[in-house]
Amino acid sequence: KFVIITIDGPAGAGKSTVAKKVAHTLGYEYLDTGALYRAIALYLRDKKVPPVESDEMRTALSNVDIHFEKERIYLDGRDVSAEIRTVEIETIVSSYAKLSMVREKLLEIQRKLGSLGNIVADGRDMGTVVFPEAILKIYLNAELKERAKRRWNDIKASGRDLSLEEVEVQLKKRDEEDSKRKHSPLRVPDGAFVIDSTDLTADQIAERVVELAEN
Ligand code: C5P
Repeated sequence: KFVIITIDGPAGAGKSTVAKKVAHTLGYEYLDTGALYRAIALYLRDKKVPPVESDEMRTALSNVDIHFEKERIYLDGRDVSAEIRTVEIETIVSSYAKLSMVREKLLEIQRKLGSLGNIVADGRDMGTVVFPEAILKIYLNAELKERAKRRWNDIKASGRDLSLEEVEVQLKKRDEEDSKRKHSPLRVPDGAFVIDSTDLTADQIAERVVELAEN
């Protein structure tokens, strides 16, 4: 039986940075489930399948091929790691992620990936739905202003021009969609350790998580 550590929380809380550090320290694989949702959104958008459940969507989903290789994500054999990080995908991803047809498909993919080795998985429903049996569950949060600032810095670093206010509005909207949806909404999982990352560095949080994992 493999070890599973889950990290859930809103966008920009630092989940992926922390998850990667913890995975690296413990020698586990990092499972980026947000990347899966982003890739599915990209896939369906490219196929012009709108975010409403349909037979067309079911067929498209049954044919999709998504896999990770060395922390890069491939969609039908194409490396889409950069493309899934665009603002365009960020504005549509939650409208696809709220559909049970999409979540069921990804549940199957995530559980399969979770059965292959020790993992640190980050997302919105890792501890509540996908891996409720996880040995350690973390809920990582931070104030909206701080999360927006971090996201804005990432966006600037990638050479795009968006104001801090725009980033904040977008982040808030996505969090609301993810928290208010019917299927697997963002929640603090039972038994999770809640960590506020507002005034902590990623290294400090990763250290805490590793400590918790080792005890
Ligand atoms: O974490 P990231 O920002 O990459 O996630 C992108 C989107 O994917 C989230 O806003 C959410 O709509 C969806 N998601 C989800 N469940 C997960 C991971 C991501 O619904 N476990």
